Amino acid sequence: MKSKRINPALSLVIPVYNEAAVLPALVKRLTALAGKLPSRTELIFVDDGSKDQTVSIIKKARFAFPVKIIQFTRNFGHQAALWAGLQEAQGQYVVSLDGDLQHPPELIPKMLRLHKQGYEIVLTRRVDSDGLAFSKKASARFFYRLINLLSNTPVEPNSSDFRSLGRKALDSLLALPERRKFLRGMVQWLGWETVILPFEVSRRAAGESKYSVYKMARLALHGLTSFSTMPLFLSAIFSLILFIAAALYAAYVLYIRFFSDKVIEGWASVLFVTLVIGGFISLFVGLLGIYLAALYDEVKGRPEYLVKEKYVS
Ligand code: UDP
Ligand code: MG
Repeated sequence: MKSKRINPALSLVIPVYNEAAVLPALVKRLTALAGKLPSRTELIFVDDGSKDQTVSIIKKARFAFPVKIIQFTRNFGHQAALWAGLQEAQGQYVVSLDGDLQHPPELIPKMLRLHKQGYEIVLTRRVDSDGLAFSKKASARFFYRLINLLSNTPVEPNSSDFRSLGRKALDSLLALPERRKFLRGMVQWLGWETVILPFEVSRRAAGESKYSVYKMARLALHGLTSFSTMPLFLSAIFSLILFIAAALYAAYVLYIRFFSDKVIEGWASVLFVTLVIGGFISLFVGLLGIYLAALYDEVKGRPEYLVKEKYVS
């Protein structure tokens, strides 16, 4: 390891997946900012299985700081890439940001000033702007409402993975053993002094979003299952209510059958009860399945990513 690498003051962790189109702009912005960052800064790019020129562009680029590239064997996902970068980071402060310039690197000096004021964690909050599609804003709003309703750990609405961690916060984060990562929740679970920095999200500088609807839904599901078991409790409570109602109704039916001349008729009521109970049962079994899958994933204990190559400039 080169001596200039020892003890960096700041590490920037940037996950990239097929970002060849945006990299030239990123290089430019980071270079322009270099004078305002500590001289002992390191750049850590995590290549999440890109199929394009991402890695070769980073290797060729002339950054003002030493560069590391962690190249995955395939696409393991944004959270896994962030985690790999955080594990690699040596800095006293570690900032993670997207490679597409939606997270303005110009905020980093301000983040560092906030650390100096005693905050161990600097989170950001996206201020809604034209940089974000309506569908993304609406689904995010719904998701953060839901998770805050269900979870004991508050999750900052409209937070993103643009944040800065002090060494103490980072080390305690890295000690969390779970495989399914939802970093936005995990960081807030830690409890270190936190400050929130609002920022206006810009449009992607180039290229297209690498977050498919499937990947977004998976992240949301991982967030919900790892931060709340409330759905399981709620389903137990609903089942109890349903059970009591069913028992009362069954008693009523038996009473009519044996002690009254009345005849209860109608297939509609039978169908109604069957459908309601059947619906709840399948819903709750599905819910159990979701938590079982989460448990299964954790128990398997596979690594979250595999590294093909590590490159150090
Ligand atoms: N990314 C990644 N792996 C993925 C998807 C995305 O490393 O499987 C990176 C991507 O290159 C970008 C960041 O994560 O630097 C955020 O992704 P993107 O900008 O596509 O998501 P969006 O801003 O649309 O939510
Ligand atoms: Mg983006």
